[in-house]
Amino acid sequence: MQTLSHWINGQHVKGTGRHADVFNPATGEVQAQVPLASTAEMDAAINAAAAVQPKWGATNPQRRARVMMEFVRLLNRDMDKLAEALSREHGKTIPDAKGDVQRGLEVVEFCIGAPHLLKGEFTDSAGPGIDMYSLRQPLGVVAGITPFNFPAMIPLWKMAPALSCGNAFILKPSERDPSVPLMLAELLQEARLPDGILQVVNGDKEAVDAILDNETIQAIGFVGSTPIAQYIYARGCAAGKRVQCFGGAKNHMIIMPDADMDQAADALIGAGFGAAGERCMAISVAVPVGEKTADALIERLIPRIEKLKVAPYTAGNDVDYGPVVTAAAKANILGLVEKGIAQGAKLVVDGRDFKLQGYEDGFFVGPHLFDHVTPDMDIYRKEIFGPVLCQVRAKSYEEALGYAMDHEYGNGTAIFTRDGDTARNFANRINIGMVGINVPIPVPLAYHTFGGWKKSGFGDLNQHGPDSFRFYTRTKTVTARWPSGIRQGGEFNFKAMD
Ligand code: NAD
Repeated sequence: MQTLSHWINGQHVKGTGRHADVFNPATGEVQAQVPLASTAEMDAAINAAAAVQPKWGATNPQRRARVMMEFVRLLNRDMDKLAEALSREHGKTIPDAKGDVQRGLEVVEFCIGAPHLLKGEFTDSAGPGIDMYSLRQPLGVVAGITPFNFPAMIPLWKMAPALSCGNAFILKPSERDPSVPLMLAELLQEARLPDGILQVVNGDKEAVDAILDNETIQAIGFVGSTPIAQYIYARGCAAGKRVQCFGGAKNHMIIMPDADMDQAADALIGAGFGAAGERCMAISVAVPVGEKTADALIERLIPRIEKLKVAPYTAGNDVDYGPVVTAAAKANILGLVEKGIAQGAKLVVDGRDFKLQGYEDGFFVGPHLFDHVTPDMDIYRKEIFGPVLCQVRAKSYEEALGYAMDHEYGNGTAIFTRDGDTARNFANRINIGMVGINVPIPVPLAYHTFGGWKKSGFGDLNQHGPDSFRFYTRTKTVTARWPSGIRQGGEFNFKAMD
């Protein structure tokens, strides 16, 4: 069995203590062991990064951008290899795994614009003989803590802007699928990133706490579940670090009576069941407006769900979704399905008995569809993170809007309608960070920013796009006066510029 490593100072480094199992979710077999760093191992990696960061920070931004340029080429070159490794540990299909890498790669492309994005501001003659300008400088050593569900995309969203801004970056990837982050580190070395500037330190809570407690770490970017996001945000901020944390989700899609019902049903199938529902932007709640709309939708959803091909990624490119990530995730999903039934929701597609010959020990979960779900039920309140779609019937647009507004999560949402007024009203009023109009999964492109509201996001800047360059730099403002502008005598009053 393979024993994975950390990536420290440009080489693979074996773990010295605890290890965790990495599964192949399709077969249920343990395929590797990942080291779980101790506090001492994490501290050593951070110290080594701090020693080399000043030189990288002083490297001109265009040269740093050239590393990103080459990194893009290498990611494209190795796309198939990365996707295969990703699917083997995560379970998602190969086309979906390629999407995972691609959406990360697009952020690396954006970072090639670092010289432009890092330009400061300049005011000529702010006073007599006085110029004023601002610099965007790297923070130093920063860290990213990432979830299992996008093992390429989210590490890339964090590392590419952090490195392009001149920081050293400590990545603590998910211990469930750590291979792709290690491969990304190898590629960055091939792209000529100096050793020590990117350290991939595998681990669990102990490694995360070591990051939180380490005074050298200036900023933390986290993505994962909301309870951990809140924990990291609170402790990181209390320690004086800059912190942004993105958490869980429960994304509603409102279907108006004038929507194209076939299009809406197709959208719900992809957004609800793609990647087995293990996406923070998955649609998990459909809210049709009016009984007729709800009936028309159910009628279209059932045959589409029954046709879904649930299989391992090796079974071909027509697989709709694969297994969930662990046996514990499977048990949690099926437990919530039982709760849904017990609390009175109507299970119209029942995937509980799903079995796949030859893969009996894999973590497959059949697709489920609930109708007549109400806001008090656990399947509505909690993030299920599995192939379970809930339909909540609303009598009016206002009622539907209210459901999405009142839910504690606020990551993404969508409305399906042909009416521009309603769509505009929805986009303006909804208290959710990312909104789709006839688009079920409105993940913004690399040059915009990604972030949820309410319990889906903590901190005041989003991921990728211009916000990421603000997050990974700090502003210094310089006021400069040369001898020709200096007058005789001291100035004792705090006054406005002449
Ligand atoms: P998770 O919270 O279990 O783990 C995320 C990271 O935190 C991992 O690196 C993990 O090792 C670490 N961690 C776990 N428990 C910890 C603890 N007690 N103390 C310190 N660190 C700990 O999340 P996950 O299961 O890997 O990912 C799924 C979750 O991530 C879902 O809730 C999903 O909605 C969310 N997610 C959110 C976004 C977003 O942008 N909002 C994107 C992707 C995933």
